[in-house]
Amino acid sequence: MIVLGIETSCDETGVALYDTSPWENGRPASAGVLGQALHSQIAMHRDYGGVVPELASRDHIRRVLPLLDEALHEAQLKLKDIQAIAFTQGPGLAGALLVGSAFAKALAQGLNLPSIGVHHLEGHLLSALLGPSAPQFPFIALLVSGGHTQLMLVSGIGQYQLLGETLDDAAGEAFDKTAKLLGLDYPGGAALSKLAEKGQAGRFELPKPMMHSGDLDFSFSGLKTAVLNQVKKFEALGTAEENVTAQFHADLARAFVEALVAVLVSKSQKAIKQTGCKHLVLAGGVGANAQLRSALTLSAQQNHFAVHYPPLELCTDNGVMIAFAGALRLLSARNGSTHSGAFDIKPRWDLSSNNMTQEESVG
Ligand code: ATP
Ligand code: MG
Ligand code: FE
Repeated sequence: MIVLGIETSCDETGVALYDTSPWENGRPASAGVLGQALHSQIAMHRDYGGVVPELASRDHIRRVLPLLDEALHEAQLKLKDIQAIAFTQGPGLAGALLVGSAFAKALAQGLNLPSIGVHHLEGHLLSALLGPSAPQFPFIALLVSGGHTQLMLVSGIGQYQLLGETLDDAAGEAFDKTAKLLGLDYPGGAALSKLAEKGQAGRFELPKPMMHSGDLDFSFSGLKTAVLNQVKKFEALGTAEENVTAQFHADLARAFVEALVAVLVSKSQKAIKQTGCKHLVLAGGVGANAQLRSALTLSAQQNHFAVHYPPLELCTDNGVMIAFAGALRLLSARNGSTHSGAFDIKPRWDLSSNNMTQEESVG
């Protein structure tokens, strides 16, 4: 089955074509990716310091059709080859979601195909199955993105249990807000990570919020405030030479990344111990972070579990993960949950409220 996937939940328009036959025949899931196209709106939103929802929706409208052509061209397929359409139904920006859902449903109706709404986070957390070392079920997923920070127990496709989550800022949000404090452009997560590599360890002792809270929840807003306090202290000393300021920023970036990574790794280890799972999956945009990946790899070696990463380019939003998650749902549910014509997007949506029954789920 060839599934078209459409992602428009925030500031990336992603389109992809996924063929389920390699997966159905026990071959690597990544072999099913036939074509993909992606446009990031980052440059457009940069001047505003964050995503402007109305601009995002309008840009999705402009981009989605040319991106579909691009993905079809790469896959050497025609519209008539598509057999089902998956789109991000939520969570995300309402206007942005509407563009993808209206486009997907109109196309599905025109081509007389089934369509299925996909949970954006399910896309993120199944994307490790498309990586070089696919995890086995059950696994723990550490989902760290721009809007979410969650630990999930994944027992099979469509079987998700929330173990803990952030009480305030998401990890990506903490990265972006801290990056801004250190003078980096939005969204500064990746740039902050690079800056931290130039920093010296040990200059700042930042809090590791909720590290020993005993549960699997997180809190990152205090960490960001601690960075702000250091910035204010530094500025109160008067104007420093450029290289001194640059070193200050790098050292503080390093302390921030180390504190945040320490908490994420410690809670992941705890989830592994608590559940007895032997596999951990990293997912979401912050999953591209080099420091987090190496700390998790080390922890896995020391604590005898396996850690699985999605391909770097599939950590942030993309159409492939939506095509893939939609395809697996369609295969498992045998079309039980395909869509009507209603535009029922879900800007707010808990993943575990969308579980399959035991019979429907594979794992
Ligand atoms: P959600 O998936 O929760 O709806 P989102 O789709 O906006 O949110 P993603 O696309 O998964 O989020 O991830 C974007 C986030 O990842 C941004 O906050 C960005 O700064 C962060 N990010 C991307 N690369 C890195 C990196 N190398 N290091 C740290 N953070 C990163
Ligand atoms: Mg984004
Ligand atoms: Fe996302």
